[in-house]
Amino acid sequence: MCIEIKHNCVGGHQSAQFSNLDNVLPATVIDKVYCPECSEKPEFDATTMLEDNGWLIEYDMELAVYLLGKHSIEKEVVTPAYLFDSRYSTWQGMSPTDMEESIRERQEIIALAKVDKKKYFETMKSWSIDRMTAFTEAGWRKAQAA
Ligand SMILES: [Zn+2]
Repeated sequence: MCIEIKHNCVGGHQSAQFSNLDNVLPATVIDKVYCPECSEKPEFDATTMLEDNGWLIEYDMELAVYLLGKHSIEKEVVTPAYLFDSRYSTWQGMSPTDMEESIRERQEIIALAKVDKKKYFETMKSWSIDRMTAFTEAGWRKAQAA
């Protein structure tokens, strides 16, 4: 069970939703989040940061190394990419705003059911496939084939 973690970007433009696998790592492992609009981005440092489609996540690597060490994961293994790709601290869904958008879009489609039943079923069917394709094409890390 993963609890919902929300983190505002440094500039306060957007809120990113995270999912930390089995809550092994707390929300505080995410030190800072920069959205594409954030102007004061630090220089990219692969030892503490992960870049995804214009977003930048800065992790508290000391905390991550310490806590994952308790699970016998060696510190050489623990990198920002590892935290993200192994789902210890990653977007909830495919992108930082995936969950919110998904809920909103679903509501719009459900509203369509009242107007046009046939269209509703067609839209529902293609919706998740189309979304996934869009994430892949946009270049989101989690949507790329492993
Ligand atoms: Zn921002």
